[in-house]
Amino acid sequence: MYRKILPLSRTVKVGHNSICRHASSAVCPRICIVGAGPAGFYTAQYILKHLDNSDIDIVEKLPVPFGLVRFGVAPDHPEVKNVINTFTKTAENPRVRFLGNLSLGKDFTLQDLRERYHAVLLTYGAEHDNTLGIPNETLPNVLSAREFVAWYNGLPGFENLNPDLSGKSLTLLGQGNVAVDIARIVLSNVDELKKTDITDYALEALSRSKIETVHLVGRRGPLQAAFTIKELREMLKLSNCITRWRADDFDHVEESIPNLPRPRKRITELMVKSLSEQEQNANAQPGRHFRPIFFRSPVKFVGSDKVEAVEFVVNKLMDGRAIPTEQRETIPTDLVCRSIGYRAISVDDHINFDERKGCVNNSGGRVLKRNLTGSDQTIDDIEDKYEPGLYASGWLATGPTGVILTTMNNSFGVADLLCRDFKANTIRLNGSRPGLDLTGRPYVSWNGWKAIDNEEIRRGEARGKPREKLTSIETMLQIASNASNA
Ligand code: FAD
Ligand code: NAP
Repeated sequence: MYRKILPLSRTVKVGHNSICRHASSAVCPRICIVGAGPAGFYTAQYILKHLDNSDIDIVEKLPVPFGLVRFGVAPDHPEVKNVINTFTKTAENPRVRFLGNLSLGKDFTLQDLRERYHAVLLTYGAEHDNTLGIPNETLPNVLSAREFVAWYNGLPGFENLNPDLSGKSLTLLGQGNVAVDIARIVLSNVDELKKTDITDYALEALSRSKIETVHLVGRRGPLQAAFTIKELREMLKLSNCITRWRADDFDHVEESIPNLPRPRKRITELMVKSLSEQEQNANAQPGRHFRPIFFRSPVKFVGSDKVEAVEFVVNKLMDGRAIPTEQRETIPTDLVCRSIGYRAISVDDHINFDERKGCVNNSGGRVLKRNLTGSDQTIDDIEDKYEPGLYASGWLATGPTGVILTTMNNSFGVADLLCRDFKANTIRLNGSRPGLDLTGRPYVSWNGWKAIDNEEIRRGEARGKPREKLTSIETMLQIASNASNA
């Protein structure tokens, strides 16, 4: 039977006969959100506003919140991190509990959560990365962008990565904004980075870096480049760094500009302008160089003890796709970062996961039953189609693309569905739910995080930085536990 979903025009009222954290005698929707990144906080924010009397636990693997806002966003983009203020307001709402240092798949199972909450929202992001699957990918000095970013941003476990910056060139494979972030950090003047929350050890390593040239290699052309205009402008304005395009990559590009949609038009105009300025100023100049290269797919890493070069096949474009030709090019390099996208994984056998796409099988955020995929459109009955009370949002649900705003929109949409499902009684409030059993678990509360936060700010002040991130989980747990015992 098809159960019609009512539009959610205003706050959903569900609070009859249940036991709540905040009120004395009502049964309330008890919701668990797994992952304290943007998707987790935005879904929580929406639910708080639209589902009266709901209680939310945000369970996070790390002792600290904010996901990629803390461990992904580049240190020289502090304005992007202002979303943390909104997330903090959400976390400090009395109907929300932050439970850090607890991991789905390790400390508890999905089954545990579904028994202990009326609804579970999976928002644990995409923490792995795609590989190229080409020879010698495991050679020393071939890293992933994810590792490199985790290193400079202080993600626990990456502090000893020690990327080898003693050579002259770094080759970035992929032309997304993650690759551009890395290019900018490596080519920036270290004095500019000193004022940011970049880790001290990364700052020290970058100050000794010998890298002079960063190649940014894409498999398609300038019209398909994945980086965006703001990030390109920053590269073009970088002090002591010259951008060098390859003129051949721009054949027929200028004449296509008038027909391009607006954002693509503006970024293409900028690239063409920068190329023409470079041609007027063709003499080789000393200093650091940023070299975008198009129409090249890596086919092999070359080297014995460590990477020495990357062999590429030259592509041509057909209907926007990169088609390999017979032509090859080898670019010598000392360090490589593969930056071809992050990847989500399944952390529990009971998650209906699409391994090919690297995301939870869902429709608009409702997780599909285990035998179904996103393309099954034939089943009408909502209860036959979806796992009751199980949702996913953010990069885990959509795949690893999109900025924080995209993640916010997706998460608000999924939270809206969840609220509607409570209203339509698709999620049944048939008795109160106990929430996670925390007995004997060294979890970090919001106050514990505040203590870690204060300590990081204190250590940063001494260095003239907004914060010095702690990277030892043991130290974080100690500080959090001292705070809760105080
Ligand atoms: P995440 O931010 O990854 O959050 C997932 C959370 O789940 C993490 O806290 C993680 O620790 C936790 N978790 C993982 N596994 C478990 C588990 N088993 N149990 C419990 N918790 C778990 N967007 C912008 O708008 N501006 C930028 O400048 C920008 N820079 C970026 C830089 C990089 C390097 C990257 C990769 C992305 C950047 N983005 C930027 C995109 C933005 O970070 C994402 O849109 C957003 O973080 C996705 O949010 P999420 O909550 O889905 O995932
Ligand atoms: P992305 O934007 O999807 O870029 C991935 C790049 O890898 C593309 O150039 C892609 O080329 C290439 N690629 C993928 N598979 C490949 C393969 N097999 N061989 C060769 N090249 C391959 O991903 P991202 O850089 O990881 O960024 C993820 C998201 O975070 C994006 O939405 C990004 O905008 C956002 N982000 C934003 C900021 C910011 O706002 N400053 C900073 C960082 C990240 P094709 O285009 O040909 O597929």
